[in-house]
Amino acid sequence: MSARLTVLGASACAPTSLGAAVGYLLEHDGGATLVDCGPGVVAELASRDLLGRLTGVVISHEHADHSADLVALGYRRGFPERLPALPLWAPTGFGRKLEGLDAVYGIPTLPDLAHPFTGGYALTEVEPGATVVVDGTTLATTRAVHPVPTLTMRFPDLGLAYTADTGMSAELVEACRGAQVLLAEATYRDAAGIDVSEHGHLTGRTVGELAAEAGVGRLVVTHLADPDDGPEILAEARRAFAGPVELAVPGMVVELDA
Ligand SMILES: [Zn+2]
Ligand SMILES: [Zn+2]
Repeated sequence: MSARLTVLGASACAPTSLGAAVGYLLEHDGGATLVDCGPGVVAELASRDLLGRLTGVVISHEHADHSADLVALGYRRGFPERLPALPLWAPTGFGRKLEGLDAVYGIPTLPDLAHPFTGGYALTEVEPGATVVVDGTTLATTRAVHPVPTLTMRFPDLGLAYTADTGMSAELVEACRGAQVLLAEATYRDAAGIDVSEHGHLTGRTVGELAAEAGVGRLVVTHLADPDDGPEILAEARRAFAGPVELAVPGMVVELDA
């Protein structure tokens, strides 16, 4: 089955000179699925006239760099006309987040925006480790090494694995095993010496080791804390992984042919 992945944003924490925080559009036979929705992602979709094509959204975890533009997208779904609730898959407990967003940003005097998030999305909570069907394609999840419930994603019919935010683990290697394309976070340069053991992130070195151990076909590195670190993170990854390694940048299109 062929599919294509368009990078909308690739920055950790907040937008940088590289563009939006993380978000990816996954177009496949079953629809156009937005994977993560960080700040700036909705503007990227709107500028490419892609907002109307979305058939569903998958959120890896609640951290704002992966989910904050659900606010912008929820408003867009409720104004100037109410659109049907958009299917949303997110980790267990995410429903309470949507209720909280309604409490903060709901507009009681505009009926379509009184509950823009619990009303604008049709939420399915996903227990990390579960396999679900998203827009007609299978999504197998693994619990990431991160301080909140986080979905590492594998789309087995599309040849894609996406780490989300995570530290290294044996389960992560298995989740990525043999993927045609591995979209993987490398938040920091390994040489920076930042201790990621508590919070759970990868570096240029560990993302390269992950790609090598999992035997993937191609590595696309994303979620950089500092865009200036790109060349060094790529060099670190290439020392561990002999296959193709690229940096995700907004507008990049990755063709998938599983
Ligand atoms: Zn993140
Ligand atoms: Zn995170």
